[in-house]
Amino acid sequence: MKCSRCGRPAFAKFRRHNAAFCEECFDLFFERQVEGAIRRKRMFTRDERVLLGVSGGKDSMALWHYLHRAGYRVFGVHVFLGIGEYSEKSREVVTDFARSHNLPLTVLNIQDFIGCSLPEATRRLRERASCSLCGSIKRHILNRFAFEEGFSVYATGHNLDDEAATLLGNVLHWHIDYLAHQDPHLPSPHPKMTRKVKPFYTLTEEEILRYVELHRIPFVPEQCPLSQRAKSLDYKEALALLEERSPGTKHMFFLGFLEKGKAYFARSLTPPELRECQRCGMPTTQEVCSFCRTVERLKAKEVKNHAHSRRE
Ligand code: SF4
Ligand SMILES: [Zn+2]
Ligand SMILES: [Zn+2]
Repeated sequence: MKCSRCGRPAFAKFRRHNAAFCEECFDLFFERQVEGAIRRKRMFTRDERVLLGVSGGKDSMALWHYLHRAGYRVFGVHVFLGIGEYSEKSREVVTDFARSHNLPLTVLNIQDFIGCSLPEATRRLRERASCSLCGSIKRHILNRFAFEEGFSVYATGHNLDDEAATLLGNVLHWHIDYLAHQDPHLPSPHPKMTRKVKPFYTLTEEEILRYVELHRIPFVPEQCPLSQRAKSLDYKEALALLEERSPGTKHMFFLGFLEKGKAYFARSLTPPELRECQRCGMPTTQEVCSFCRTVERLKAKEVKNHAHSRRE
């Protein structure tokens, strides 16, 4: 197999591009994809400080590596969730990477924000699924950190597979509000909320994995033990089947939506009225934000459990 660009031996074939690349040409392809996304969507410049959420998974580690290598001012932030060995390993991977590449990194411990680990919070609030609870807590913690530290942009490693699966879910359920909002660059709706960007939105999981292998970037391959078999995995499987039969389907679906479909949904949208939470001051549509309400419920359960265990 020869590289489609230079004719040297290729190291990987990419059906959706009908091309095979040698290591050097693949790197160039990768760079063009990311730089094209950053430029097209006006995500950030090389002068801006970019806050990057690093979980320790392959996507965020690849993006961290790329942004640093390409000369962007990237600052990593990791939320330690206290999910046993999985969290310990994730923290180790991100801290080792930061140290070995001399990169700034902040590790935030969920315990300092909600008073306990994520598994303990899930146990106390039995009625809520871990991922939705985890997502809403992380969103709040990261948003507050970005605001307090003066970052104007927050980046994540979401890729084309993630975005196409989310889009399929939004279409199947006709979540009009989500469809109006889904975009690799979400502008800030409030001065206390950082804009959010996804520089990998044109790259597939497979392409990112190749990049990680090529540069020997460390990452945590294990799945989070608290993750439920999310619907998004079914959507990814369905899309993988279509992609197998017609390479390029995911690209056409998501990028076509951005170009042609999104405007229809955005038109009918009335932006939510945001005010500041009475407890923490962060933007919310209600008087008290969902994060502060969760913390209050966690405290109430702790008091109740404590009283219960004293009676026993
Ligand atoms: S899989 Fe779910 S619980 Fe685990 S880190 Fe991700 S969102 Fe949180
Ligand atoms: Zn080549
Ligand atoms: Zn609040």
